[in-house]
Amino acid sequence: MGLVTMKYEMMKAIKGGYAVPAFNFFSYDNLVGIAKAAAEKKSPVIAMATMSGFKVMGEHGVVKMAEGVAADYGINLVLHMDHCTDIDMIKRCVDNGFTSVMIDSSKKEYNENVEDTCRVVEYAAKYGVTVESELGHVGGKEDDIVVDDMSVLFTDPEYALDFVKTTGIDCLAVAVGTVHGFYKAKPKLDFPRISAINKLLPNTPLVLHGGTGVPYDDFREAIRRGVRKINVGTELKVHGVFDTCVAGFNSPDAKQDPRAVSKMVINKVASICSEIIDVMGSEGKAG
Ligand SMILES: [Zn+2]
Repeated sequence: MGLVTMKYEMMKAIKGGYAVPAFNFFSYDNLVGIAKAAAEKKSPVIAMATMSGFKVMGEHGVVKMAEGVAADYGINLVLHMDHCTDIDMIKRCVDNGFTSVMIDSSKKEYNENVEDTCRVVEYAAKYGVTVESELGHVGGKEDDIVVDDMSVLFTDPEYALDFVKTTGIDCLAVAVGTVHGFYKAKPKLDFPRISAINKLLPNTPLVLHGGTGVPYDDFREAIRRGVRKINVGTELKVHGVFDTCVAGFNSPDAKQDPRAVSKMVINKVASICSEIIDVMGSEGKAG
């Protein structure tokens, strides 16, 4: 038990044909809720900090928090930095004990994306830290990164093959029709594209971003076609934490005691995570 690499969990997921859920966290209660669900379901789980979360929670604090929560719940936990556009920040994550990082240079030209990703792979390799990178542009707003509708670009399978071979990344984030944030219309996933990428890269776990609001049957189909990590952030941030805090602090049950609200957040986050774990097929796959 303790912090493990994403690669470790991804290799098991490829063999087992399931996906590992990846949940964003922005606070301690948020992280505890994720760990509680993982422990109850005996599921592997990836806890993802963001660049802004890293700044708010503190770069040492966030790692110690993850180590402590993994020990308290007796679980393996992947501590991942999500969508990082700053290579110096990624290096600090690696130095401080993150077990997985995502370099996001997907908005740059292909060659620059390759160059940045190679730099991160080289640095992370010294510590055995897993690297995820994105090719194509997933739309919507993630943390402080905004991709407008006109800039969405689906991942090209041939480029994906070249990208993975050239950079040596462990996991590939693909743009196949999901968006960050809440959906304005029903999402339409490009399933043949997922299969085409998976056919060329059968040993590279594919990552689906923008999981909030995607119908569960679409998750299952994406997993059947080679997706091994699915990111869910907005649902936890808005419904799991924010709405629960607002209702909690206004509830007479809380009796002006923040611990009561913490418990509500932990339980709400855990219930959202448990439901998603069921869809991923990752229940009982921990260890
Ligand atoms: Zn994302």
